[in-house]
Amino acid sequence: MRFSGWRILKEGLTGNKGWVPHWRDPEPKSEYDVLIIGGGGHGLSTAYYMARDHGITNVAVLEQGYIGGGNVGRNTTIVRANYGLPGNSEFYSHSLKLWEGMEQDLNLNTMHSQRGIINLFHSDGARDAAARRGNAMINQGDDAILLDREGVREHAPYLDFENSRFPVYGGLYHPRGGTARHDAVAWGYARGADMRGVDIIQNCEVTGIHIEHGVVKGVQTSRGAIRAKKVGIVVAGRSGQVAAMAGMTLPIESHVLQAFVSEGLKPCIDTVLTFGMGHFYISQSDKGGLVFGGDIDFYASYAARGNLPAMEHVMAAAMTLMPMIGKAKLLRSWGGIMDMSPDGSPIIDKTHIDGIFLNCGWCYGGFKAVPGSGSAFSHLMATGNYHPAATRYRLDRFRTGHGIMDEEATGSQHNLH
Ligand SMILES: Cc1cc2nc3c(=O)[nH]c(=O)nc-3n(C[C@H](O)[C@H](O)[C@H](O)COP(=O)(O)OP(=O)(O)OC[C@H]3O[C@@H](n4cnc5c(N)ncnc54)[C@H](O)[C@@H]3O)c2cc1C
Repeated sequence: MRFSGWRILKEGLTGNKGWVPHWRDPEPKSEYDVLIIGGGGHGLSTAYYMARDHGITNVAVLEQGYIGGGNVGRNTTIVRANYGLPGNSEFYSHSLKLWEGMEQDLNLNTMHSQRGIINLFHSDGARDAAARRGNAMINQGDDAILLDREGVREHAPYLDFENSRFPVYGGLYHPRGGTARHDAVAWGYARGADMRGVDIIQNCEVTGIHIEHGVVKGVQTSRGAIRAKKVGIVVAGRSGQVAAMAGMTLPIESHVLQAFVSEGLKPCIDTVLTFGMGHFYISQSDKGGLVFGGDIDFYASYAARGNLPAMEHVMAAAMTLMPMIGKAKLLRSWGGIMDMSPDGSPIIDKTHIDGIFLNCGWCYGGFKAVPGSGSAFSHLMATGNYHPAATRYRLDRFRTGHGIMDEEATGSQHNLH
């Protein structure tokens, strides 16, 4: 089933009777070549690229809940390639290029909107850091423009430019950054993988991993045992728990991150904005809601809901930056469980168990990584070699200390820095 303007017109005129489910609802088979644990954005994109780029289609994605129920459907949808460190820079550049072809590739409107991102700075030192980051982005082949205060004012005249503590000095503008419709991305990859023969199995919790003499043999699930030669663990906030089934202790902490949405307003914010003196960022959805968030809740938790102190912290930062937001009513908020790594950068690697692969540590920035991660992880699982854009996401960097990529210099304990 392909989507097109013509198809929508035809279905509209004939009672919408021709649409079929986007993916099948198969019973799990007893054996697959590859099992992907976790049907979030990363698991689904891995299965999709595994089938599309490597021709491996005897694959199942095992999801304990429903597609889009995890962080892939809970995030604030910012998509960007504005990282500064080698390792991250080429990876997110690769991912953004995949974003730019995604809608054609998946034949689905993921509402990818390159409305631009402005990272504000509020001191001379921060301007230097922004300029350095912008140069790294340009060297990587991505786009970056250093705006002065008047340049920012043209995009966002409503900011409190003269705030006595944190006056706005300027911003690093990344025009190709933007937003997308998060669940559409999950649906698109699920549909694309299913069309190529991958089994998407929902309501199937992995409860154990079967290993013999250091080699993976399969998994136990709530719907029976499944054998496989290769198993990818891609479960975001549950990474520690699932890896423990294989006897591994990961350098990952699970923390809650909240998101907030205001009542629908007329269009007033047409880029993504980030505050430079606190963790606060904001965009406006196509429905009109102001979508914003801030820092993690500062203690490890598996509860997919947030707490009031972090909410107050975010609201205070919002009021500091744009006092006008105080007139908007908050409509809803929610939380997601983040897989925080010690250096804030992810892991895409093999493990010491033959056939078990690991993809985690996306912290609060893994939505933009969904295509890049799927393409890199499927490459690693299919060929045994690291994808050229993801050679540095090694698990052993936390044991050896070599190759740490601390983009923000905060790691998982943001409150301690
Ligand atoms: C509030 C919030 C805002 C965010 N904002 C942004 C943003 O603006 N930009 C950005 O780039 N990133 C953002 N992120 C981060 C991003 O959402 C995550 O890094 C990313 O979605 C994680 O990867 P995933 O999609 O594969 O995770 P998930 O969707 O969580 O997928 C993991 C899946 O594994 C399943 N699972 C777990 N255990 C098992 C098991 N035992 N058996 C079977 N299945 C299992 C879960 O049910 C889940 O569906 C945000 C996150 C949150 C919570």
